[in-house]
Amino acid sequence: MFRRQTPDSPSPQFACVIGAGISGSSTARALAELGWHVTVIDCGHFGASSLPLGLISPHTSKDDGALSQLSRLGMDRMRVAMRTYLLEGVDWSPSGVMTYPRTGPVSDTNTVWHPDAAWIKPAALTRALLAHPLIQVIRDTVVDGLRFDMQTQSWLVFNSDTCLTQAEHVVLAAGPGCGAQALKTDSTPPFDAIRGQVTWGLMAQTAHAPWPANPINGRGSFVPHVPTLEGNAWFLGSTYDRLRTDVGVTEEDHAFNVHRLAELFPETASALAPLVYSDSVRGWVGVRCTLHDRLPFVGSVAAAAHGLWINSAMGSRGLTLGLLCSEILVALMTKHPPPVATNLVRAISSHRFIKKAWAKMQRNDQASGIPPRRDA
Ligand SMILES: Cc1cc2nc3c(=O)[nH]c(=O)nc-3n(C[C@H](O)[C@H](O)[C@H](O)COP(=O)(O)OP(=O)(O)OC[C@H]3O[C@@H](n4cnc5c(N)ncnc54)[C@H](O)[C@@H]3O)c2cc1C
Repeated sequence: MFRRQTPDSPSPQFACVIGAGISGSSTARALAELGWHVTVIDCGHFGASSLPLGLISPHTSKDDGALSQLSRLGMDRMRVAMRTYLLEGVDWSPSGVMTYPRTGPVSDTNTVWHPDAAWIKPAALTRALLAHPLIQVIRDTVVDGLRFDMQTQSWLVFNSDTCLTQAEHVVLAAGPGCGAQALKTDSTPPFDAIRGQVTWGLMAQTAHAPWPANPINGRGSFVPHVPTLEGNAWFLGSTYDRLRTDVGVTEEDHAFNVHRLAELFPETASALAPLVYSDSVRGWVGVRCTLHDRLPFVGSVAAAAHGLWINSAMGSRGLTLGLLCSEILVALMTKHPPPVATNLVRAISSHRFIKKAWAKMQRNDQASGIPPRRDA
């Protein structure tokens, strides 16, 4: 599914990928398929891709904008990957998803059935993607320093004073960690870190509950009938909280998730409500990374020296978009034609804010009668 090394491909090199979530693992796999040696380093801090269960579903919009188009293409990539690497009915299911409007009354005209949508246990996919002889994974280790060595024209990657690896290319795929001081560059935009809590439990504990026939999405999400080692489970998500930084599971957030389910499925919600304050309900918390325009941030890190790349800001759709964004990034890194139309590459480009800032400055200059700047 990823591009293979061809006789005219640039010769394989060494890369270090920071972050082993869906963005990092799929970037590493795409590079390894081209013959590159890749070291992946992950600190294991609340990565969104360790989500117990997520939905692969399209984004829809009236203008069919970049996010909608990318999400459809991303789903195609994910379907191939899930079929290639995962066990259907165990790690993923082509379940379809019923999508409801986020707010307001629900009717036949604003409720859409997406037959191609699916649920997935993302950790199974990241594990499978990283299982490649050219990929070495270093876990439970924070990268807290990057230095470009002029002599060897390569990056030195540090944990404290220890140099973990040296590579010609470094890919920042650390989710909200890309905004941390150690990985930040002059051109890093302000990422939003958005906390989310999932509520889940075993179906046998509420055998009397009337379960929806299919997974639902839009006004939160609910997925029943998911096989786990302990029996079939239901998954209810998720809170969306940009003001909180705590990462502990809370009963209040469980209650919020159940309360929102009540808007669409009041009987299911009232069967689950008593569990909220009991030990039988489980929770998971992760942190999403977003930008204000809600699009991924993919490409070279403009202000830094050669060989520093970023693949982040997947927001609430990283499971749908991650593989596609990695393919786009690897095409840029290896100077291959990108796998999507140029307007989509531009929409997620890591240079887009710099260009917009220049355009705004030029407009302001023009309005004030200042002659054009030389490097604009
Ligand atoms: C509650 C919730 C529900 C969601 N539901 C869905 C869904 O249904 N469908 C969907 O498509 N998406 C969903 N998402 C979004 C999706 O999970 C994310 O967009 C996606 O997982 C992001 O992947 P990533 O690899 O970019 O980042 P992450 O998965 O966050 O990975 C980044 C990794 O970098 C590591 N890291 C950070 N800093 C450092 C450092 N300095 N050194 C070393 N390692 C570092 C972290 O440990 C982490 O593992 C959901 C997210 C949340 C939180």
